[in-house]
Amino acid sequence: MTFTTLGVPRIGPRRELKRACEKYWKSGSAAGEDAAHERSAQEHASHLARTAWELTTKYAQNLASAGMASVPTLGRSYYDAVLDMSAYLGVLPARFNTIPDHTIPDREPTMSIPDRLPRDIDRRFATARGTSDLPPSAMTKWYDTNYHYIVPELSVDTKFDLTIDDFLADVAELLKTANVRPVLVGPFTYLTLADHAADDDLDGLWQPLIDAYVEFITRLGATGVEWVQLDEPQLTCDVTDADVDRVRSAYTKLAEAAGKADVKLLAATYFGPGDHALAALNGTGVNGIAVDLIPSQQTPTRSAASSSDARGDAAQDDAVPSWLDAWTGEETLVAGIINGRNVWRTDIEQALRTLKELAERGPVVASTSCSLLHVPYRLGRNADGTDAQESSSEPGLPVDVRNRLAFGEEKIQELAVLHRALASASTPDDEHYIAASSQALSEGLPTNDDVQRRLSSITDDDRHRVPFSDRTGPSLPILPTTTIGSFPQTSAIRRARKDKRDGTITQDEYTARMEDEVRSTIKAQEDLGLDVLVHGEPERNDMVQYFSEQLDGYCSTTNGWVQSYGSRCVRPPIVTGDVSRPSPLTTHWFRVAQDATDKPVKGMLTGPVTMLAWSFVREDQPMSVTADQVALALRDEIDDLIQAGARIIQVDEPAIRELLPLRKADHDAYTTWATQAFRLATSSAGPDIHIHTHMCYSQFNELIDTIIDLDADVTTIESARNGMKVLKALRDAGFSLGIGPGVWDIHSPRVPSVDENTTLIRDAIDAVGVEPLWVNPDCGLKTRAWPETTASLRNMVEATRRVRAELGG
Ligand code: GLN
Ligand code: ZN
Repeated sequence: MTFTTLGVPRIGPRRELKRACEKYWKSGSAAGEDAAHERSAQEHASHLARTAWELTTKYAQNLASAGMASVPTLGRSYYDAVLDMSAYLGVLPARFNTIPDHTIPDREPTMSIPDRLPRDIDRRFATARGTSDLPPSAMTKWYDTNYHYIVPELSVDTKFDLTIDDFLADVAELLKTANVRPVLVGPFTYLTLADHAADDDLDGLWQPLIDAYVEFITRLGATGVEWVQLDEPQLTCDVTDADVDRVRSAYTKLAEAAGKADVKLLAATYFGPGDHALAALNGTGVNGIAVDLIPSQQTPTRSAASSSDARGDAAQDDAVPSWLDAWTGEETLVAGIINGRNVWRTDIEQALRTLKELAERGPVVASTSCSLLHVPYRLGRNADGTDAQESSSEPGLPVDVRNRLAFGEEKIQELAVLHRALASASTPDDEHYIAASSQALSEGLPTNDDVQRRLSSITDDDRHRVPFSDRTGPSLPILPTTTIGSFPQTSAIRRARKDKRDGTITQDEYTARMEDEVRSTIKAQEDLGLDVLVHGEPERNDMVQYFSEQLDGYCSTTNGWVQSYGSRCVRPPIVTGDVSRPSPLTTHWFRVAQDATDKPVKGMLTGPVTMLAWSFVREDQPMSVTADQVALALRDEIDDLIQAGARIIQVDEPAIRELLPLRKADHDAYTTWATQAFRLATSSAGPDIHIHTHMCYSQFNELIDTIIDLDADVTTIESARNGMKVLKALRDAGFSLGIGPGVWDIHSPRVPSVDENTTLIRDAIDAVGVEPLWVNPDCGLKTRAWPETTASLRNMVEATRRVRAELGG
């Protein structure tokens, strides 16, 4: 190996795969209707296969021509790599078995590999997306990233049955382009992430699973691949000694099989320290171990944006963590020295010092810390490290910001430069590149004196509200009814946004249209009889982007797409300096809404933790500091909303669970800063103001104390799907604040009946009593349509009236 990266994005620099998938899905629903439909469905199928093929080969070619000797590949991956693994292992859910193989049309028997979809493609898509009558598999966050994978469904009866002919054909074909290294989810990670049907203990699956991997590696060897990579990010989480032993014996077996098949094995870990990886893999016979050398995002001790005078000996010591002492030098160390999941340029001089130090201990290969799936494709930088100016993919970013950033392509450049420098083979361009990196990072990110002054004068008082018992809030009936914030984002709203972007309507016309939306949404809520209204968020495309675009210290990208799941991509904003609020963010919309009704309207903001969780954050300061900056901006916004007449303000924190560190030992530090930031944002609200918050999940057993500490007057949560079970846990933990357990699961268009709602409300009363309870849906309604929204809310209000009547009041 020369240098490498641990994985590649699949969606395409212009989201080509997204479009091809969506066309294929659409054509599938019309397929079989008549010959013309049939024909177009086949064309969409070939187009999808071709698109994926071109993206995959082009990416591999680019890596190879940058000098990468062993190029990672997923083959063609259409949706998610964990889903692919389930397909390869022959364990897609049995309920989809009736979906037939995707076949090559009779009239084109000689269809080439690039034109072919894998036979099980429709079962894979059904597993990910469901069908009209079968539910999909669960989807959840990939470790602490914003990428989502499809959760394997396994049970004690699962039989593995390798289904890899199409994948092997892809690999064989790709080998003509580059020395590709197939990347598979490793067995320990795969089994740990699987959903255990009922209470099945899956230990019995471990040996058969390892046998399947042995066969997989053997057959990959027959294609002529040099390396195979098995990803084991699970080894960076908390693991038991028994886990370490199990992994050790499995990898000894896998390495032996690889040896026989003349394949080298790379075991790759990422998203955390490599201590467990080294303990489990040292001396097993694997040829390489990949470890992540990037400090935690939340508390970066070593910074890509550090000033030159901070690069003393101390920084250098930090760069090689002590757990690397366990590396014996027997295996090649694939050193994740370049951050694969953030967008900052690397300080190459510092990285080089670290690599040199490691090279004294054994064979080292420079790499990104994880797959490049998590960063945008390309920014544009010349071979000498200077800005690519007019050919930049991000012409909208200021040059000085662009100069500090590195997307996927630039990270590969950095690795190539590092590799040559390590081999004492730097070119003159490389020398310039290294100097340009140091130069770009020599100054800190722009500071804002005002923000700095305010940060340094924060006191503990600023993070405390008047005691809950002294808070009055607005006067409301028992079991107040409300919603979470957004109402349906109709095609009219999306069209208005597009018209504004295209310049076919003016900003004023756009604003007028959105104001009309707000007024009609208020009217709809009044008609439904809701108690606390919302403006409906028509003006927000995305709850983070909407705020980041208005805050100083944040930048948005034009083409910085990153896959979130399946065909869904996001463009996370980048925090590029001290965050501040140049002018009010939401008061206009609040006023339009409140002027249209006598009922109380909730102000609606995105909280500091979520603002960072869905952005690319700074690496030159702890996240806690950036969170406090955002909190100060929100604090001012809350003051302005109160001035504008708001008596209830909701600060959404749907992402608070996502940033929970992977290891328990780090939980307290996180929950402390997250809580502190939320409280800094909300604590200036007086006793007559109600602060609400909203969280998008129900598995928060680990976070109950945090929710109590947030000290919000009302917390709305998901709970319809688990029948209010979560409430008992809250009560047992001593939760005494207001709580709004969602009674309508908005993730489906199904309209729950009045009876169903009534039962859930009664169950909630049984669990926590009437006094703290609010009645609301699970989450925002932006993905719903109006018919089910009106019907469901009408039933919810009716059920509340019934229960109130039962209670005699
Ligand atoms: N207020 C937001 C909405 O209703 C909350 C969204 C969320 O929880 N993700 O859309
Ligand atoms: Zn939600």
